[in-house]
Amino acid sequence: MIAPILPEVIDIGPGALKRLAAFCTARIDRPQGGSSGAAIRLVADARTWAALGSEAADALRAAGLAVRPTIFEEPYLAADARSVLRLLIDDDPRERIYLAVGSGTITDIVRFACHRTGRDFISLATAPSVDAYSSVVAPMVAEGQKVTVPAKAPIAVFADTEELARSPRPMIAAGFGDMLCKFSAVADWRLGALLWGESLDEAIARRSVEAARSCVEAASAIGAAKPEGLATLMAALVESGLCMAEAGHSRPASGAEHHYSHFWEMRLLAEGRPPILHGLKVGIGTLETARLWDGVRSMTEAEAASRLGRSRLPERAAEERRIRAAYGSGAAEVIAGHERFLAMGESEREALKKNILAGWKEIRAFAESVPSAEETRRLLALAGCPTEPRRLGLSRREIALGLKSAHYVRSRFTIKKLALMLGLDREVLALIR
Ligand SMILES: [Zn+2]
Repeated sequence: MIAPILPEVIDIGPGALKRLAAFCTARIDRPQGGSSGAAIRLVADARTWAALGSEAADALRAAGLAVRPTIFEEPYLAADARSVLRLLIDDDPRERIYLAVGSGTITDIVRFACHRTGRDFISLATAPSVDAYSSVVAPMVAEGQKVTVPAKAPIAVFADTEELARSPRPMIAAGFGDMLCKFSAVADWRLGALLWGESLDEAIARRSVEAARSCVEAASAIGAAKPEGLATLMAALVESGLCMAEAGHSRPASGAEHHYSHFWEMRLLAEGRPPILHGLKVGIGTLETARLWDGVRSMTEAEAASRLGRSRLPERAAEERRIRAAYGSGAAEVIAGHERFLAMGESEREALKKNILAGWKEIRAFAESVPSAEETRRLLALAGCPTEPRRLGLSRREIALGLKSAHYVRSRFTIKKLALMLGLDREVLALIR
């Protein structure tokens, strides 16, 4: 793997705008004779322009830099062809740096456009809502489907903690949800390494958990939108993005709980409904995975053996029917992506069961590293996240469908797959119905 180019500067604290201007001034060499002409293309949406973009433009102009703003006015901006075209259609070669003023979507549009045009960009974060600031991939919407494609990280991330404190509370809560999930995500990664032949980077796994732990310790300061809590959250989100970039995949930051979120997101997208903040969906997913981990934590090896003894290989045709019912027009792709599980035969299944039992002590240790469902609920509430799935605006049927079918989204071994083999998920689903 080629090492990704990561941000040179990560600046989180009060007064970040001044340092942003200094960074840009040092970065942009001006031609002889003074004026630099066009230099920075600032990209914002109406909200982030009002919140921080206009102030940033003033600060940069005061530092002698030319700034051209592009402001997206759409109520539900998406990282799609339309947004990218809007940027590229009047791309000015004299503008060597793009400045993304926003959070997830704006940053993804800019990171994609800059990757394809060979530009550098700086991220000026307006909300601690998502762990993708330092990411080297971008989730884009193409033909109504979400696809994750290569993109680039910003050369610098600036976040003014006083500005972060003014960001909408649900966005702060979403950032917390996107961090609290790391305990379960990393435990899933460990399952993948133990049972599914994946490689685990121990140092990165620990960093991801450490970042999550810092947010747990700051949960009430984050819930109260105190600048010191938001500085911790923002630093953790950036760290999580770096963990993914360095690992070269999303395992350090995303497991079964993210699959639930992706499933619901795909449905909203397909039906043209307003999006729900990523981290809030992930928070609900994390509550569900915590329940599954609770079931594993209290299970003796003898009980696991007896449950696995009763577990039957699912029939391929029945699995495909379930996928088609849940994924509609996207089913063919999901089926193709899930081939390793679908193609599993009796002997492989038995070997997997043996490995689960042989590793049961380790698996219970993974479960120990994940906060209980009760603790997860308490922490989510403390940070202002919804803890009832219905509060997300999804129907009962959609929630149940997601909890049952989201694991088909990726062919990764997760707590959900383990729970299915142990017959645990049926019991957990029965509890929340
Ligand atoms: Zn996430």
